[in-house]
Amino acid sequence: MERKIETKCLHFEEDEGNISHFGAISFPIYQTATYAHTGVGKSTGYDYSRLQNPTKEHLEKVVASLENGTDGFALSSGMAAISLLMELFKPGDHIIADSDLYGGSIRLFRNVSEKNSILFSNIDCYKENIEKYITKNTRAVYIETPTNPMMHVTDIAKAAEITRNNGIILIVDNTFMSPYFQNPLDLGADIVVHSGTKFLGGHNDTLAGFLVTKNPEIAEKLRFLIKTTGAGLAPFDSWLILRGIKTLGVRMEKSQENAIKIAHWLKKQEAVADVIYPGLPEHSGYEIMKKQARGFGSMLTFSVKSKAFALSILEKVRMIKFAESLGGVETLITYPTTQTHADVPQEIREKNGITENLLRLSVGIENADDLIYELEKVFRETECELSV
Ligand SMILES: *Cc1c(COP(=O)(O)O)cnc(C)c1O
Repeated sequence: MERKIETKCLHFEEDEGNISHFGAISFPIYQTATYAHTGVGKSTGYDYSRLQNPTKEHLEKVVASLENGTDGFALSSGMAAISLLMELFKPGDHIIADSDLYGGSIRLFRNVSEKNSILFSNIDCYKENIEKYITKNTRAVYIETPTNPMMHVTDIAKAAEITRNNGIILIVDNTFMSPYFQNPLDLGADIVVHSGTKFLGGHNDTLAGFLVTKNPEIAEKLRFLIKTTGAGLAPFDSWLILRGIKTLGVRMEKSQENAIKIAHWLKKQEAVADVIYPGLPEHSGYEIMKKQARGFGSMLTFSVKSKAFALSILEKVRMIKFAESLGGVETLITYPTTQTHADVPQEIREKNGITENLLRLSVGIENADDLIYELEKVFRETECELSV
């Protein structure tokens, strides 16, 4: 019987049946930069930690197994992973990228990749015909689903059919869903990206990034690039992410349960104009989510009636923290306009619907009643203040 993902988060099947590392249940941290050789031309398999490190390698295998890939690469942050990915392309190559992406990815593409003469078309992949934008120089389609922060849902299998038919690759940033809820490689994607800082790590304490593939050619190129450019994840950080992954299942379930409760509570609020959560049946991506994912996640975006109301919420929250990032055990509230998407030009932000009334919640694993109690308090206080 194929193991379920909660189990795969805890037990790496290939390692089973043999006691290694003195039987350590927690994979040891190999805090070493280099490795001794027993003779000329001999190696333990480990020469230098930029190339190989047992702790990092173990993590890479675990993440690859969670995404049903063959090769995983652990980088020092999500952006390091995406930057490395861009090294697969050369001047003149064209990439079709979703117009609503993590702000840092947009910043990278516009300021660094374009400088290196990689060309981008930014389109709404969830609703536009991707095929129409493919030229003879197009090499890849780059998407997030659901997108950050507008939660648009793209049909991964459909996008993969288009990329496959045109001999180009599909790259999916799967950070929002984590491998627990969604596996893009199974749906035909060629490369999966993760900010491991988010759900995989899960504790708002470490930065990490991942690339996963099951294409041996891509894997070989990435292996060469990581060795050459040197942004691999450090041993201790690898261990922290490994520890985080052990509880991925319970964290995803609990935070999703809380997010659904909060989405329903928000919908009932007079001051809330819109609740954008793909787990609500009225969300335009709901049916696709049900088809391609095992859950809806714990990210939700909502807009309030005025900018003043949004700012007041950010000022007044106490237990819920006004902070960037997402996917950790603590609930965070973000203001995309000035935080995650601050470097995205205003006209693009507005076109994407990122207004000054928009807030994003990354729901954690607290008791939902406590979260709603705090939101209730903040909303009522704000209503009082703004009405006088
Ligand atoms: C945070 C994030 C990134 C960047 O990851 P870092 O670990 O912060 O560098 C990329 N994509 C998405 C969807 C993210 O949320």
